[in-house]
Amino acid sequence: MFFFQTRLLHHKRPLDRLLEEGHVIGAHTHRHPNLSTLQAIDQRREIETSKRQIEKITGQTVKYFRPPFGQFNEDTLNVRSDLKLVMWDVASFDWLFKERP
Ligand SMILES: [Zn+2]
Repeated sequence: MFFFQTRLLHHKRPLDRLLEEGHVIGAHTHRHPNLSTLQAIDQRREIETSKRQIEKITGQTVKYFRPPFGQFNEDTLNVRSDLKLVMWDVASFDWLFKERP
């Protein structure tokens, strides 16, 4: 399962391969803010924009959501609608590696 911030979901991302191999793409907000610092209405906008864009690109219903930095609050749980919250036990540190030219 992969979680992309949808602001970065551009055509160079290996989305076709991910989908062909049966991976699932979950919502991870649009701009990757710390949701616990936002008002509920802004949290909802971040999550719904992310969900809508992924569904538009993949044609699949988004069912999972990962809060950026693992940070969320009561409002997040209220505005995520039916998305299942997915956290993690192991960090891949993939964000440390830049894309090769
Ligand atoms: Zn993230």
